[in-house]
Amino acid sequence: MTSLTRADWEQRAKTLTIETRAFVHGEYRAAESGATFECISPVDGRLLGQVASCDQADAELAVKDARATFESGVWSRLAPAKRKKVMIRFAELIEQHGEELALLETLDMGKPISDSLSIDVSSAANAIRWSGEAIDKIYDEVAATAHDELGLVTREPVGVVAAIVPWNFPLLMTCWKLGPALATGNSIILKPSEKSPLTGIRIAQLAIEAGIPAGVFNVLPGFGHTVGKALALHMDVDTLVFTGSTKIAKQLMIYAGESNMKRVWLEAGGKSPNIVFADAPDLKAAAEAAASAIAFNQGEVCTAGSRLLVENSIKDKFVPMVVEAIKAWKPGNPLDPATNVGALVDTTQMNNVLSYIQAGHDDGARLVAGGKRVMEETGGTYVEPTIFDGVNNAMRIAKEEIFGPVLSVIGFDDQDEAIAIANDTVYGLAAAVWTSNLSRAHLVGKALRAGSVWINQYDGGDMTAPFGGFKQSGNGRDKSLHAFDKYTELKATWIKL
Ligand code: NAD
Ligand code: MN
Repeated sequence: MTSLTRADWEQRAKTLTIETRAFVHGEYRAAESGATFECISPVDGRLLGQVASCDQADAELAVKDARATFESGVWSRLAPAKRKKVMIRFAELIEQHGEELALLETLDMGKPISDSLSIDVSSAANAIRWSGEAIDKIYDEVAATAHDELGLVTREPVGVVAAIVPWNFPLLMTCWKLGPALATGNSIILKPSEKSPLTGIRIAQLAIEAGIPAGVFNVLPGFGHTVGKALALHMDVDTLVFTGSTKIAKQLMIYAGESNMKRVWLEAGGKSPNIVFADAPDLKAAAEAAASAIAFNQGEVCTAGSRLLVENSIKDKFVPMVVEAIKAWKPGNPLDPATNVGALVDTTQMNNVLSYIQAGHDDGARLVAGGKRVMEETGGTYVEPTIFDGVNNAMRIAKEEIFGPVLSVIGFDDQDEAIAIANDTVYGLAAAVWTSNLSRAHLVGKALRAGSVWINQYDGGDMTAPFGGFKQSGNGRDKSLHAFDKYTELKATWIKL
């Protein structure tokens, strides 16, 4: 946390130098075409800058450079212990520039400054450090062979990695990809979201300062359908890693099939069930967690607990407890350190969220909290945390990912019905179960088709646990050593002695 006040942050925002150019081979540069796009802050509508709008020409340049850098061995063949040292230095530089990065993140996408500092920046630095620390402790394998043979199973970097990331945790999603990609020796091209390009652009310079060679980490800001598509279709990108919507994830698989069959690893959307049984150990804790699961980060969280499944025998008592708990989550100016709900990322996203609130009304759900745009006079995009009761799982607000602070409460009668409703979704990112019954916790946990399952808490885990989805929430995993699989090829070398 910080001792800086809102006035301090406002002052810093005024004097902040914002880099808006692309970064290729260790240098900032305009897009080849010279084109730019406007970067508008959702905090109050202020113009933050004109950002380089890269396209296919920039993709060509960056991929060529990343390939040459990879082949040179300057990073890819560096001893792991040496890469480790550089990555730890990189993590330290992210921390040292933590306040600057947090401010950029908050101005760019509207999240509370306290979260930017204590969650985004610190977890991002940790992702880089953790991945770096691991690499000189991992061994390859020797196969079980006959006496006169030797079988080696080794891992090699894939080569050129393109990383396309979203705007809800811009720096953190970047570092979830960057950590293991750098650790394993690849050259990377980052395509940040056009809604949140600033922190990715900034850390490219920090990577150079840390000693990561020029050409290993490049950044191409711009739109999905221009530079994103060019990278996804590129014949010399070996691996594409992505976090974003399921719709675009599917498109990227098509691009890979249409081009060079590059490996595609996807972290996509979610509609996660948070299941509260009557025997939950602490209903107050469950209610508070249900509120934070939808209000934290303005609900712009892939694992948001957007479907609250409540056992009908306690529903009349429990829903008012959630309504009470969500009062602690109030939109406010994101530069105020006391604020815990900021602005939605932009007007498009806000209108999308408001249209889902309208759909909730239209489909006959009952509004019990929030429901409106607020603080319109600021020029920013704020929406109250919103709860609908009386939802059934077929309604749009229960089926589609809203990616905003809108909670759907659904009742159930027994364990089997809870599991059936929970799994009745195309997604499978996360799920939570609240119960005092150990067997039930495990049985329901096993039955849930989701990459993360939380028992008697919401959103647990850290860098040591793999993160990713079942079903249309994606494939592959970020975080933990399992993430390294995405950035390496396995080679079997068989030697006759
Ligand atoms: P999005 O899919 O619209 O965009 C993600 C990225 O893809 C952006 O950088 C965008 O520019 C790029 N893109 C768009 N069209 C493209 C194209 N045709 N070719 C190449 N790139 C293209 O998603 P978003 O709105 O930025 O983020 C919200 C989504 O991200 C939600 O669905 C959320 O659930 C998901 N998300 C998932 C996770 C996870 O780990 N599973 C984490 C955070 C967010
Ligand atoms: Mn922005």
